Amino acid sequence: MILRSPHALNRGRSYLYRLASGRDEGGLEIRSLIKTKTPKLDFHRYEPRSRRHLRRLFAAIRAYLDDLDRGQYVFRPGMGCNMCEFRDDHCQHWLG
Ligand code: SF4
Repeated sequence: MILRSPHALNRGRSYLYRLASGRDEGGLEIRSLIKTKTPKLDFHRYEPRSRRHLRRLFAAIRAYLDDLDRGQYVFRPGMGCNMCEFRDDHCQHWLG
């Protein structure tokens, strides 16, 4: 679950867009439906991802794969923890 932070997700989306289209994105926009009594759309806009952003994405993926190769689980809390099936057992027992 290394691509669960909004920043990492944006980097992943940018990379996949470039891969599929063969060109750089003009920018990124995340639209969220806010379900209140009067629903509204929330917009978050980001500049195109830089080479540095993509290098950091692949460095995080490399570090994750290196941990897997060593058979090592590394605690990486994030937004997905609330929905994680390991949250109350396996994750609670992790000590490094
Ligand atoms: S609860 Fe633990 S195992 Fe689950 S996503 Fe979060 S850090 Fe990872």
